[in-house]
Amino acid sequence: MKNNYEIKCLNCGKHLPLNYKYWKCIKCNGPLEVNIQKLNIDKNKLSKRAFNLWRYREAIPLNGKIRVTLGEGGTPLIEKEIEKHKVYFKLEYLNPTGSFKDRGASIAVNRAILLKAKRIVEDSSGNAGTAISAYSSAARIPSKIYVPKNAPKNKKNLIKAFGGYIIETKNRETAAKRAISELGEDDYYIGHSWNPFFIEGIKTTAYEIIEQNNWQPPDKIIIPVGNGTLLIGLFKGFKEMLTLGWINKIPKIIAVQAEGYTPLYEAIYNKKNKKKKSKLADAIKITNPPRLNQMIKAIKETNGEVIAVTDEEIITGLRKLLKIGLLVEPTSATAFSAFLKMKENIDTDEKICIILTGSGMKMINEIIKLTTVKNEK
Ligand SMILES: [Zn+2]
Repeated sequence: MKNNYEIKCLNCGKHLPLNYKYWKCIKCNGPLEVNIQKLNIDKNKLSKRAFNLWRYREAIPLNGKIRVTLGEGGTPLIEKEIEKHKVYFKLEYLNPTGSFKDRGASIAVNRAILLKAKRIVEDSSGNAGTAISAYSSAARIPSKIYVPKNAPKNKKNLIKAFGGYIIETKNRETAAKRAISELGEDDYYIGHSWNPFFIEGIKTTAYEIIEQNNWQPPDKIIIPVGNGTLLIGLFKGFKEMLTLGWINKIPKIIAVQAEGYTPLYEAIYNKKNKKKKSKLADAIKITNPPRLNQMIKAIKETNGEVIAVTDEEIITGLRKLLKIGLLVEPTSATAFSAFLKMKENIDTDEKICIILTGSGMKMINEIIKLTTVKNEK
């Protein structure tokens, strides 16, 4: 397979060379997009392939070459009845390092291998850093990960355990700033909120949801949103399937943000939302996402919504998820908390899909503290 993709700037439309290493447009500093030209996948071939992200390899801009994988993707979609509503949970927390970020990390690290990177650099609130650390080690490339010092302790420990070199910074913003300003000549900055290849990995979630649901799109998809990689990835995946003729509509995307960190909510509804800052949703404490315009487009074009949830609502969501056997981190519970908050306004014949993004195993002590109640008979 030869090169069949293009890299271009979303702001000014400039086309960039295929070996482009810089994380944003050289001309206008805008975010980049990768597109497969003449996307063509033979649907009949799919059932013969293993159920993981590489099942949709024609849609991934690596020309079919897989140099490192940990078996990412292929996560279960389970159906539950919740107060007369039919809810599908996509268990993204069952990915190799416990979060949906493994999909993006896999593609971005494969890209780093192609670019012959000597070292991989990333900034993260924890999950992306864990994923990048693991995939970099699997690819035998050293990694340096900038993480805010108040990130959950086990996430920081896991980054080290997987072999990444960790640098703790004052907060999430300084993690990103320092990662960029301290870049060395042979470093490859993944910067998952900028990296267009990362999004190409995330978009395979959309392909899986549709295939697992017998090629029928659900009516609504509810997801947590910080930097918006999941939102943008899903939207891109659905749009591609629309072009392929595999689906005839895109589900409404409902983005959930944590109170105090609601830039998308404020942009969509054009109002300030200065509420008490969430302490629990550590993975989506983002105030200035670089791809905000794309996030707005995904919500508007799918006729979607943005919902903000409080820490109290997150704890309720966490507890209820545990009662149905699902152990996720507080950030991931936001999507279910939003469903609980809005369920009166959802018809019971609507198909709802909730993406559970990150495992509770990394924060088990915090979760036990937050949710423990008396033994129930
Ligand atoms: Zn540009």
